Amino acid sequence: MTYTDLTTPLRTIMTPGPVEADPRVLRALSTPVIGQFDPEFLNLMDETVDLLRYLFRTDNRRAFPINGTSRSGIEAVLCSIIEPGDKVLVPIYGRFGYLIAEIASRCDAEVHTMEKEWGKVFDPEEVKAEMKAINPKVVAIVHGETSTGQMQPLKEIGAFCRENDSLFVVDGVATIGGVEFKTDEWSIDAAITGTQKCLAVPSGMAPITYNDRIEKILLERKKIERGLSPDSENSRRIQSNYLDLSQIQDYWTSGNRLNHHTLATSMLYGLREGLRIIQEEGLEARIKRHQLHGKALVAGLEAMGVELRGNGEHKMPVVTLINAPEGVDEASVRSTLLNEFGIEIAGSFGPFKGKVMRIGNMGNSCRKTNILHTLGAFEAVMIQHGVTVNRGEAVQAALGVYAAEEITAVKS
Ligand SMILES: *Cc1c(COP(=O)(O)O)cnc(C)c1O
Repeated sequence: MTYTDLTTPLRTIMTPGPVEADPRVLRALSTPVIGQFDPEFLNLMDETVDLLRYLFRTDNRRAFPINGTSRSGIEAVLCSIIEPGDKVLVPIYGRFGYLIAEIASRCDAEVHTMEKEWGKVFDPEEVKAEMKAINPKVVAIVHGETSTGQMQPLKEIGAFCRENDSLFVVDGVATIGGVEFKTDEWSIDAAITGTQKCLAVPSGMAPITYNDRIEKILLERKKIERGLSPDSENSRRIQSNYLDLSQIQDYWTSGNRLNHHTLATSMLYGLREGLRIIQEEGLEARIKRHQLHGKALVAGLEAMGVELRGNGEHKMPVVTLINAPEGVDEASVRSTLLNEFGIEIAGSFGPFKGKVMRIGNMGNSCRKTNILHTLGAFEAVMIQHGVTVNRGEAVQAALGVYAAEEITAVKS
């Protein structure tokens, strides 16, 4: 048996993840492995905690990555705080809301869902009304629904959760690091992100943060582990060993380092490097960069004359949806882009499957050359598929956005 060598083709990745990793991150990933209790490695862990606090905009003591993709972070938070019968409210407006509800139901929560038509977001008042009706222990919601390109306003819901003593858990996988996200200011008790989207790191870790309100529950449940009786007789021990936050946080506590699992050494190198890059760029500047390239992309597509979907006030700046033109097979458009131009864009799920194409501008994929290449190539493929477009307009419109930006930058 002979195996093929790993020769990955060079791609321009314009999906909502995984996106192109920063070259500095890729170099960090190849750093020689050291032991998990090597003082040098413990320093890297401490630095990562600090950098994550900056990323999440939080003063929480707890901020660390879970080993695994983003959903391992979601599952770690939910299974560590939900006990059988707990009421969990999940407002769903796209694919990833269903994921939250599914994980909560595996924790034997009493799951209450409310659903919004794909492409829309919730009016905070609707969520508040539902909370008043059921008084949930946890409200868990997605910030940016990658499947629909919509972004849910969180601040009001967070404030109401605090008022009502409900825990507010947010999946910020597709937004954190590229879009404004304020853990503390929005009263978020636990937030989860992933590496392969706006952080420009390959997939494999799920950074999370949580506050004392969450930690209190973890410590109660840990009592059972230690043979002590918890305050509430309903308390159960956390059913997962691997994702037990009460144990993992001990491993991440400086000076304690109670061993749990073996931290994914190389991934920590990569994540820490990605976070350093974010700090060097500055979160504000990074968010502006994502906005600018999103704006140039939208301007280009509009000038081309294709129909966008969900381009309203709640559009994610890092995901853009295009309706597949009548009679055009969107999968064929995508495969032509990949095979002829080496550019990957995405389809969607559920009610949007086969109907929309999604273009992402996240992390290291979010740059001028990528946007211009994508617009030029997309126009060519549309023409090749028999779609009538305004020829030559798209790239010029995007260039116009960049030129205007440069003028403003010079002025300021
Ligand atoms: C990508 C994504 C996830 C799932 O991430 P994995 O890393 O594949 O586990 C969850 N939520 C949102 C909003 C996402 O965009």
